Amino acid sequence: MRQAKCPTCGNVAEVGDQDVVTVCPYCKTCHTVDGAIVKEHYLVSAYYQSNEAIESLVLWVKKQIGAEEDLPLHLEIVSVSLDYYPFWHAELKAETKFSGIGQDATYSGPAGGGAYRSISFTSKPDAGFIDRGLSLTYPASPTLPSALLDYQFPTRSRKYFSEAYAKEYGGKIHNGVLDQKTVERQAKEEAARILGEFIAREIYEVSSREDKIELLSIFYLHAPIWYIQYKYRNKSFEAYVDASTGRVITATYPVSIEYRTIHGALSAANALAGFGLSVVLGRFSVLAMVGTLIGFMTMSGVLAARALAFGKAREEAE
Ligand SMILES: [Zn+2]
Repeated sequence: MRQAKCPTCGNVAEVGDQDVVTVCPYCKTCHTVDGAIVKEHYLVSAYYQSNEAIESLVLWVKKQIGAEEDLPLHLEIVSVSLDYYPFWHAELKAETKFSGIGQDATYSGPAGGGAYRSISFTSKPDAGFIDRGLSLTYPASPTLPSALLDYQFPTRSRKYFSEAYAKEYGGKIHNGVLDQKTVERQAKEEAARILGEFIAREIYEVSSREDKIELLSIFYLHAPIWYIQYKYRNKSFEAYVDASTGRVITATYPVSIEYRTIHGALSAANALAGFGLSVVLGRFSVLAMVGTLIGFMTMSGVLAARALAFGKAREEAE
């Protein structure tokens, strides 16, 4: 553990060895451990309280295939906690002027109905201009659970941190290990790479390329996540719920005995049918017998996996 002194109120707080950006626990100033204030610091509001997050989880589990139907009756909440994870968000304007060699398709021998007998490609010099607005987000903390790494946090409803945080439900504010300079460099590199991909769609050989990449804005933001641990008939499960939208991001849930029993029975029946059929086919062709056996065993395996499955799912992105 190291110590960081707040440039605003002068209080000293402990930070992790790798942390470079922290939030003062006394006055909520966001600053680097070297004492530079991060002015553009926002918060995505937690509009959903813990009970609403739990409600959202229960409704979500009910929609999952094979989930226990009596979950709401036997659900036992073990812990509910609110975490604010840090992100850097960069807006860029990326332009490029390029020239090189592209391809032209020539269609010949019309065959009616818009079809042609042959298509030939010829190379030709080509040039163009690409102009894109990019919005890139970088998780800033190693404490972000891996299940949330590729989740697109909503950043539109952000507010300045210091004022907004006072009205929140508490929660742990995580520190960041990425500084602004590093993120700016990464964002510009990524923008150049994205431009390169667009160019590759136009031409296959680049002879000249002139990029103009401009960072329009960059800000640091904390987004709220509810972490729920719960039990069902003495087994443990967990869930992550976006506290700003109430959406279940990812969760584990109990799979019903009925679902397991049905799939277990189907698996056994399938295996038996496979054996029966392959014995019959074996009289005619060994190859057909083996093929059939493999097919049925694979299906049986799939069904058996369902019977043994540990429920885990994540909501698809909208
Ligand atoms: Zn302070």
